[in-house]
Amino acid sequence: MARYTEAVCKLCRREGQKLFLKGERCYTDKCAINRRAYAPGQHGQGRKKTSEYGLQLRAKQMTRRFYGVLENQFHHYYEMATTMQGKAGDNLLILLESRLDNVVYRCGWASSRAEARQLVVHGHFTVNGKKVDIPSYLVKPGETIAIKDSSRQSDKFKAVLEANSARPVPKWLDVDAQNAQAKVVEMPTREEIDLEVDETLIVELYSK
Ligand code: SF4
Repeated sequence: MARYTEAVCKLCRREGQKLFLKGERCYTDKCAINRRAYAPGQHGQGRKKTSEYGLQLRAKQMTRRFYGVLENQFHHYYEMATTMQGKAGDNLLILLESRLDNVVYRCGWASSRAEARQLVVHGHFTVNGKKVDIPSYLVKPGETIAIKDSSRQSDKFKAVLEANSARPVPKWLDVDAQNAQAKVVEMPTREEIDLEVDETLIVELYSK
């Protein structure tokens, strides 16, 4: 599957905000956004003139990259969002936020969404007691996500949990660190999603 494999910090610099793609480094002074907060490339510091289409495209790309989702998948979420009650833009972000790989990251069980995706694919998690190895699985209120007992004992997991224990967990997830499990209390709201994007621009882009 085609995935972006170049220096991921360039993606954050292109979007002008932290997308948290590199794990622990994102929370340190070494973060490229702290050091070079302008777009990469020869004209990165030049005058910016962005068209309406350009703004819509950037909003879409930023959101897609934040969650590490490919174009086709992303469009599929948009189509799902338009069939749900409420605002399509809010629904889109809520769908992305409820992906299992994102939940694993939000619980502090991975340093980045990319790492979370890999851990899910490797079968380290259960949902309501059953192994789920599909990163795009959408969690629902009442479900319990847990790290498999055998996985919890590994040195790698112990190190990851230790490194990410101080990260704040959103209110819609109730994490029981002792038992390495988390309950989905409710669906997230737009206000609880810490991505600074105008999601209506994405809706405008896809509505054309
Ligand atoms: Fe790089 Fe992470 Fe900073 Fe983005 S947030 S620029 S991925 S260190």
